[in-house]
Amino acid sequence: MADKPKVAICWFGGCGGCDEAVVDLNEDILKVTNAFDIILWPVALDFKYHHIEAMKDKEITLSIINGSVRNSEHEELAHLLRKKSELVLAFGACACFGGTPGMANLTTKKDIFQWVYGDAPTVVNPEHNVPQTITMKNGNSLTLPEFYNQVFPLNNIIDVDYYLPGCPPPPDLIFEVARAAIAGDLPPKGSTLAPDTALCDVCARNKTKPERLAITEIKRIHEIEADPEKCFLAQGVVCLGPATRRGCGEVCININLPCRGCFGPVEGVADMGAKYLSALASLIAAETEDGRKKIADELDDPVGYFYRFTTASSLLRKRREASKKA
Ligand code: SF4
Ligand code: SF4
Repeated sequence: MADKPKVAICWFGGCGGCDEAVVDLNEDILKVTNAFDIILWPVALDFKYHHIEAMKDKEITLSIINGSVRNSEHEELAHLLRKKSELVLAFGACACFGGTPGMANLTTKKDIFQWVYGDAPTVVNPEHNVPQTITMKNGNSLTLPEFYNQVFPLNNIIDVDYYLPGCPPPPDLIFEVARAAIAGDLPPKGSTLAPDTALCDVCARNKTKPERLAITEIKRIHEIEADPEKCFLAQGVVCLGPATRRGCGEVCININLPCRGCFGPVEGVADMGAKYLSALASLIAAETEDGRKKIADELDDPVGYFYRFTTASSLLRKRREASKKA
């Protein structure tokens, strides 16, 4: 019997939810394991990196990588998997765009360490220990990956063949990718494996959106009792649906929460946050500059709203590009 195609599943800088999403395929995961030989899946199976190093170049049919690139171990493994794989799939918002970890690009490694190992109220660290890449103890050395000053989406580090967005990607799209890979039915390289239209196009609330939307105040979702039938924007709640690629199954909208943009932008949009911000600004209805400023000030975390998943792949991230490891 011919060898099955090999698949690697790997988790970089992320929360683990993307690995969980693969497990959530439930019994369909058996179809995947029948079709593929899983040769790396650190969260579930005990393979070692040296097993991968010993493989021939391109011996792995598909590497599925979730999480952002945050440290030197992620970067080394990304290069290794790229070398050993025919195809690389960026799986989930963190791998595709940097995801929520990418918002750390608004600060520095120094400030993160100061908070995490020093100033946070629950920290007790009188010796001010912080992680070192090399620690000597009794003549032995312990090495840790180097924590970078910047979070990177996967395609900033290696060539990526396919993108599957979402936080995490939904089971139906994951299964469709597996099916297409098994059938040799994948679209051209570089494709995002989700429909290329905005979420609003399929949102059941779209019909309640007025033709000429006029926002006179901005509310956070917990500040109102949201009407479950009505467009969030028409209720003054920021919803990223107009700027976000569809494919998620409207899971947030269906539980009466606005879209936060985890599927990223549709094709051709270079900066999702800027695109949405300019659209929102045109909807703000106030006669005076002071009135417009008052409405804008109601947005207390603009980056968190507009760039929650895409800071690291936006124009904003470029400000730190020159200082990767500082
Ligand atoms: S995309 Fe979402 S679910 Fe996946 S690792 Fe990142 S934060 Fe977690
Ligand atoms: S803005 Fe949000 S609630 Fe309104 S139609 Fe678009 S996705 Fe639906």
